[in-house]
Amino acid sequence: MRGEICHLHLGQAGTQLGNAAWELYLHEHGLLPDGKRDPDVTEDISQSSSYETLFTETGNGKYVPRSIFVDLDPSPIDEIRTDARGHYTIGKALVESIVDRIRRVVDNCSSLQGFLIFRSIGGGTGSGFGALLLERLSAEYGKKSKLEFAVYPSPLVATAVVEPYNAVLSTHSSIVNSECNFLVDNEAIFDICKRNLDIPCPGYDHLNRLIAQVVSSVTASLRFNGALNVDLNEFQTNLVPFPRVHYPLISYAPVISRKRSGHESFKVKDLTFQCFEPNNQMVVCNPHNGKYMAVALLYRGDVIPYDCTQAVAEVKAKASFNLVEWCPTGFKLGINYQKPVSVLDSELASVDRSVTMLSNSTSIAEAFGRLDHKFDLMYTKRAFVHWYVGEGMEEGEFSEARENLAALEQDYKEVADDTVGLDRDMDLEY
Ligand code: GDP
Repeated sequence: MRGEICHLHLGQAGTQLGNAAWELYLHEHGLLPDGKRDPDVTEDISQSSSYETLFTETGNGKYVPRSIFVDLDPSPIDEIRTDARGHYTIGKALVESIVDRIRRVVDNCSSLQGFLIFRSIGGGTGSGFGALLLERLSAEYGKKSKLEFAVYPSPLVATAVVEPYNAVLSTHSSIVNSECNFLVDNEAIFDICKRNLDIPCPGYDHLNRLIAQVVSSVTASLRFNGALNVDLNEFQTNLVPFPRVHYPLISYAPVISRKRSGHESFKVKDLTFQCFEPNNQMVVCNPHNGKYMAVALLYRGDVIPYDCTQAVAEVKAKASFNLVEWCPTGFKLGINYQKPVSVLDSELASVDRSVTMLSNSTSIAEAFGRLDHKFDLMYTKRAFVHWYVGEGMEEGEFSEARENLAALEQDYKEVADDTVGLDRDMDLEY
């Protein structure tokens, strides 16, 4: 028994990402959409996999996903009001019933590992209600991991002008209320799909299916056997040296279309190197302008530990690889034997091996910098602020959130300077 995880899907992005992740989970575990075992899957997955991590088994042989989907208002009402309503009016009324549902799910677990939370930080429900729910989860389940996959607003696919407000407000809350937050920047993923999968104009379903592969790799160690299985708590411990600085970058390789996969070799070394290329990252920023604090490489499939350690040694020897001086080891490797698979109608090829890299790099501060800049453009004019105030929010919360983000940017700078925590109250823990 490796411990259960509870998935929480908030708002549109959280729900749609959830659909993609669960579609893949079902496929990987040989289950049909109704939760029954697929009779056409002849391989005995039950030998190597642990269903209890994600599913509750019912008496009639059905596997029910341990997940909760929340959307405050499925109709497309505007994001400003949902954000404030998500946090104040509607959200306050709803949060108790959601917390109740979560409690029931948790009570049915024998050893809950933690929560995986999916949402967009620019939207209304994901941002406003998400912040409220995280506060409650923190209070009630402080000792359990709360890992997030959070969609970062991008100018290409953003749906509302106020996304930078929502994103700054919700990041302000996630700095204290979640332990590890993987940002997924739609713009970066859009480009990866366009370039590597030959999709001229990728839609949300394409982006979500790619993100689902990362989600699956992150949870694979809890679901399948492996040589070096790294569990949720373990890699979080390695990735987050200071509590506030908990926004690792994600890269995944190989991202390759079915058409092209026949012509490529996927050596462990090549895949590892691909993860260090900025254009394969799921947030736009340049790690060559910053330093790595920690790197977790989660390999899966047909992989030999020796090849992984060799690849890491070569990465470390590169002049372009910059690790902070105070953390000389820096790398954590995970190997899981279960091959990555792709759902049948996806453009993404099914390959024999893959790697997901989660790296804590100071360069992610560039993404926060961009967000802060957009926030400032509107906030200097107090544009749209009256909508939030009208829903019960105090204007002071805007400046408090913005100051906290400025402090976060500064935290990353100080980490890179190697003078960490010496002259500023950075809320660091040793
Ligand atoms: P909410 O339902 O009020 O939380 O709002 P949304 O989740 O729709 O948030 C809007 C943001 O999420 C925008 O930046 C959208 O581009 C992004 N978004 C919405 N749906 C999806 C999705 O299915 N996948 C991805 N990757 N992003 C999405």
